[in-house]
Amino acid sequence: MALRKIRLEEDPILRKLARPITDITPKIKVLAEDMIETMHHANGVGLAAPQVGVLKRIIVVDIGEGPTVLVNPEIIERDGEQVGPEGCLSIPGKSGIVSRPNHVIVKAMNLEGEAFTMEGEEFMARALCHEIDHLNGQLYTDIAERMYTDDEMNMEEEEME
Ligand code: ZN
Repeated sequence: MALRKIRLEEDPILRKLARPITDITPKIKVLAEDMIETMHHANGVGLAAPQVGVLKRIIVVDIGEGPTVLVNPEIIERDGEQVGPEGCLSIPGKSGIVSRPNHVIVKAMNLEGEAFTMEGEEFMARALCHEIDHLNGQLYTDIAERMYTDDEMNMEEEEME
């Protein structure tokens, strides 16, 4: 396993459409392991392959319940709404207010090539939507109702201390 370099906002690869994965090759398994390691190292709750420079449809999420790898993820059901803060490992030090569905069902494939569905509520629904957007070249800043100002970000840090 190895850490991969996280691409930042200005990198044009983050704006490209990722391609579906047809075969779970050993290379894809290594990619998934590296993505989990990179996500944990950066204290993130999710990571999409384009963020490490690979234009393939694979994401990893971990909101504290252990990592899940989703190959070719697709939202097949969404309902409800939640409005709250969101950040991105590719846009460090920033945060914005984003509206997302409160509940999603995602269809995907695991690393054994088996189809499965995953249900996400609240924060997990937010993480899944955010990471799947990355596969379509979208960043949360595109759809944020507004971004927090630097002052607001500093205030939040002070409150946490
Ligand atoms: Zn992101």
